[in-house]
Amino acid sequence: MIIVLKQNTDEKQLAHLTDWLTSHDLDIQTIKGSHSTVLGLVGDTSSVDIELLEALDIVESVKRIQEPYKKANRKFHPDDTVIKVGDTTVGGGTFTIMAGPCSVESEEQICSIAQSVKESGATVLRGGAFKPRTSPYAFQGLRADGIDLLIEAKEKTGLPIITEIMDLSQLPLFDNVDIIQVGARNMQNFELLKALGKTDKPILLKRGLAATISELLMSAEYIMAGGNEKVILCERGIRTFETATRNTLDLSAIPVLKEKTHLPVIIDPSHATGIAAMVKPMSLAAVAAGADGLIIEVHNDPRHAKCDGAQSITPDSFDTLAKQIHTLHGIVKEMY
Ligand code: PEP
Ligand code: MN
Repeated sequence: MIIVLKQNTDEKQLAHLTDWLTSHDLDIQTIKGSHSTVLGLVGDTSSVDIELLEALDIVESVKRIQEPYKKANRKFHPDDTVIKVGDTTVGGGTFTIMAGPCSVESEEQICSIAQSVKESGATVLRGGAFKPRTSPYAFQGLRADGIDLLIEAKEKTGLPIITEIMDLSQLPLFDNVDIIQVGARNMQNFELLKALGKTDKPILLKRGLAATISELLMSAEYIMAGGNEKVILCERGIRTFETATRNTLDLSAIPVLKEKTHLPVIIDPSHATGIAAMVKPMSLAAVAAGADGLIIEVHNDPRHAKCDGAQSITPDSFDTLAKQIHTLHGIVKEMY
């Protein structure tokens, strides 16, 4: 970190600042120019509050040289993280397809979708039991019963399951869940992230609706700082001024994240676009851009789905798409 001081710095204030910085275990290298003085800080600056420094009377500007996330940072962990989930792995050159309905609706529904997505090549079954809905009057999910039905589908098909946690109090229900999803709305629920950091379950962390990539990585850091390094990042579209799609899929987040972090990156084309017909082009684009996998909403009767029917593809369309995804990944993987 570099601090540029204002001209004619008050010596007393400077002494206060240097005392404060050394109390953070930082070495200070001072460069005195003819007009201004620059302090170079050497050491772990991740706990230093930049805004606080910038607000000081004697400080002109502050620049961070190193990112404030360490565990998620590729600089300190050059190899890709590979996460084992059931018999499959996420990351490290593999391509994972997670698929299933937005929400678990009945035993028949989840078990039949699970069977068909498995036959088409999905390796993880998705299904929401706790649903974060904009309206309190909309279907809120089958909650604990939904998790039981997912476990039943897992026992029948052998597919590992992913489902969303909305609150810390639900954690005991997740013992037999293979991947815990943190939804976009909870990306900055720091108490939840800290608690998940104490578990040993893989966590799929979705990017918040208005979160920057750095904020996503800082949220991943919360989980990792607690000791759980099994974090999978998910880009699911962000809010922009564009209204043609439900959200705007930030495809460039894939190469940005690949450069900044070693964690696997999964794309959710369903929530990103909100339109079933756009799931295929965005899925293929995600493969081409270097994603490690996709999470896709599939429903046997989208028109009567209790949630997100408009963006859900049918098992038949998924079957065709899954084959195309694997064909394209076979070509693309040689290029990365
Ligand atoms: C979901 O996966 O069903 C979901 C609600 O996702 P998001 O948090 O991305 O909106
Ligand atoms: Mn959904």
